[in-house]
Amino acid sequence: MEQNALKLPADFETYGQARQAGFLRMKELKEKGARVVGTFCSFVPTELIYAAGALPVGLCAFTEEPIPAAEAVLPRNLCPLIKASYGFALTDTCPYFYFSDLVIGETTCDGKKKMFELMDEIKDTYVMQLPHRRDERALAFWREEIIALQHKLEDFYGITITEADIRDAIRRKNRERQVMRQYMELGRLDPAPLSGYEMGTRVDAGSFSFDLEQRCAEIEARTAEVMADWEANYKGRPTDRPRLLVTGCPNAGVRDKIIKTVEELGADVVAFDTCNGIREKVEPVDESESDVYTALARKYLNINCSVMSPNESRRTYLGQMIDDYRVDGVIEIILQSCHTFDVESHLIRRYVTEEKGIPYLGIETDYSQSDKGQIGTRLAAFLETIDK
Ligand code: SF4
Ligand code: SF4
Repeated sequence: MEQNALKLPADFETYGQARQAGFLRMKELKEKGARVVGTFCSFVPTELIYAAGALPVGLCAFTEEPIPAAEAVLPRNLCPLIKASYGFALTDTCPYFYFSDLVIGETTCDGKKKMFELMDEIKDTYVMQLPHRRDERALAFWREEIIALQHKLEDFYGITITEADIRDAIRRKNRERQVMRQYMELGRLDPAPLSGYEMGTRVDAGSFSFDLEQRCAEIEARTAEVMADWEANYKGRPTDRPRLLVTGCPNAGVRDKIIKTVEELGADVVAFDTCNGIREKVEPVDESESDVYTALARKYLNINCSVMSPNESRRTYLGQMIDDYRVDGVIEIILQSCHTFDVESHLIRRYVTEEKGIPYLGIETDYSQSDKGQIGTRLAAFLETIDK
């Protein structure tokens, strides 16, 4: 049987549908008095938000509609994720932003940290100061920032967060990481058991299911279903579809024009080294560490995002993924004007082509559809270069 990597399950929801479906659930939760905290980045330790009895909700925007409004304030040559996120806030058109009691930002990239100053004029936006290196001084500083966030949440809600609250949240989040990781590691199977389009969509859509346990149960059920389907229908039946790894910026806003397109052209996206992929899931918080703040600080400082400098560990982990997922080629997605990923892409290209000896394609793009045809042509040409 020839594998159809784009076979989607009957209950599959697109990211837009899942986002929409979450609005009503969020409204009902708010009416029952739920605390809601908006975030924009994997570096924000959501354990503290759960420990405060609140629900974290991701506010990164992946659609071009709010961008023109944002461009009346922000420069045009700014990352579309930043413009779209600010545009939603400015036009009050994102229910998740509307329902957030406060926003937790972070000093990751320059565009985002300066945008938070403007966002603070619309809604209380607390910014964590992220150090950009990984040494003992940075660890001590980041630990203090995590404690400061705890105090902010306590003051804001008039509550006390205990160590037991934090340890409980760490356990729950570690379980979620493990479940998501097992799901994404399905991509190690050869032939690929499901499309990367489905995998990425489902992981992103999970953030709109606010009950952590329910989210885990749904992903576990899908993992078991995919595994059974693979055993029955695909195992031991080789395919000539190239196996690709996607790295770089968050890709939800360009998933259709890149990931869906390349899979329609005959490849399988089997691995994601992105912050909406496995990047934040690889390392759990160490539950045996006696100091919870050190445990949280160490885990979050180790996230392999290009905002960190130096960031060699991203290449080390990328190399391991290329081997573990038996990857034939790498596509790096760079959102326009994302300087950290754009500059680091030189090192990634060199590492992938020279040290791992496989083809690399870098695509710089934004949320518009104007380059869709050109991207399709480049993806088709890239697949021609893969020796499979
Ligand atoms: S790419 Fe880096 S800075 Fe941007 S949201 Fe992800 S972890 Fe945060
Ligand atoms: S994609 Fe790059 S520029 Fe955009 S918010 Fe993330 S780190 Fe910043």
